[in-house]
Amino acid sequence: MSIEYRAAVLHAVGAPMTVEAVVGGDLGRGDVLVRIKAAGLCHTDLEVITGSLRYPLPIVLGHEAAGVVEALGPDASGLKVGDHVVLSWNPHCGHCFYCERDLPILCETYLTHGSKAVAFDGESHTRLHDGRDLRRLMFLGAFAEYAVVADHQAIVVPNELPFDRACLIGCGVMTGVGAALNIATIGYGDTVMVIGCGAVGLSAVQGARLAGAGEIIAVDLDAGKLALAGRVGATSLVDARSEDPSAIARAKTAGRGADVVFEAAGSPGSFRASVEAVRPGGEVIWLGKTDVAHDVAFRWGSLMGDKRIRRSSYGGARPARDFPLIARAYLDGKLMLDELISRHIALADINDGFLALQRGETIRSVVVF
Ligand SMILES: [Zn+2]
Ligand SMILES: [Zn+2]
Repeated sequence: MSIEYRAAVLHAVGAPMTVEAVVGGDLGRGDVLVRIKAAGLCHTDLEVITGSLRYPLPIVLGHEAAGVVEALGPDASGLKVGDHVVLSWNPHCGHCFYCERDLPILCETYLTHGSKAVAFDGESHTRLHDGRDLRRLMFLGAFAEYAVVADHQAIVVPNELPFDRACLIGCGVMTGVGAALNIATIGYGDTVMVIGCGAVGLSAVQGARLAGAGEIIAVDLDAGKLALAGRVGATSLVDARSEDPSAIARAKTAGRGADVVFEAAGSPGSFRASVEAVRPGGEVIWLGKTDVAHDVAFRWGSLMGDKRIRRSSYGGARPARDFPLIARAYLDGKLMLDELISRHIALADINDGFLALQRGETIRSVVVF
C-alpha cells in the first residue's frame, strides 16, 4: 500500500521548506501508519534548517508529534487502528550493546540509521513525487499528514488528551520532565536552577517541582519566558542580562550553590554558567545543544569539587513507560502543557513558525492538521 500526502520538504539548508505531495506508506514488518494530527516546532528541526546539525536532503523534519493509528503492517503489535498515539523519536532494538545496558538513546541501530534519516529498518519508505528518495528526521518526519513508524515508536495515550498538547510529550516535555525525574537525583527541598526557559527548560522546572524541589530558580534572557517559568512553578526568576545566575544560586544556599542545575539554553555561556552555579558535589544536567563542531571553554576551577556533569538527550526516556505517565500528570492537573503552546499554525505557515522560534518569540508553535 502506498499513499500520497502533503509534507513540508527541506530541499536545501537555509531555504524555506515547500509543502508538496510526497509518496509513502509502504509498511514493513512491525510498521504502523500514523495520521499526524499535531506536530511541534522544536529547536532540533531549526538546527537542521540552519545547518548546525547536518542531515542528508531532501528531508521532512518534525519529530514531536501525535496522531491516530491508521494502518498496521505485518506483525505490528500493541496497537490497533484508531488508537491515539504520541510518537517517540528513539526507536531501539532492545538487544545491542547499549540497549542491554539500559541506554536505548545509544542503540547501535538507532545511531546507524538515525544519521541517514531513514526508518528504523534502514529503508526510506518515503519519496518525492518524482521518485527521488526522501529522508525523514529522527525516524519520524512529522511535518506531514502521515508517517510510517516502528510499532514501538507509537505510544497509546488517553483519547481525552488533546493532540496539540499530546505532541509536546514526544520531545520537549519528555526531555525536560524526564531529566528531572529520570536523570537527576533531586532530594526533597533541594535548590534547583534551570537555565533557559524554552519548552525543555519549562518542562524541567515542572519536573523539578514534581520531584519535590524546594527553591526552583529559573534563568533566561527574556522577561516573557521568565514570567511563564513563574507560572509553571519556578519560585525565583533571574534575568541573566542583568543578574549573575551563580551569584544568585550562592546567595540562596548559604554560599554553596544549587544542588542541581539544568542547562536548557544551548549556548557556551549557559554551559559555563551551569557549572559555576552548582555546589561542590552537586549535579549538572546538560540538555541544550550547540554546534557540534564548536568548542566550549570552561574556567577549570568551576569544574572542581566533585561536581557531577551529565549530558541527557531525551530525559532518560522509556517512552512506553513515561509517555502515559506524563499524559496522566497533565490530565490530573499536575503538569501544565497549555502554557507551552504559543501558536497553532497550518502546515503552510511552517516557515514563519520557524522564523518566530529563531527570533525567540515562541515557546512552541504547533502545526495542527
Ligand atoms: Zn525536539
Ligand atoms: Zn539497540
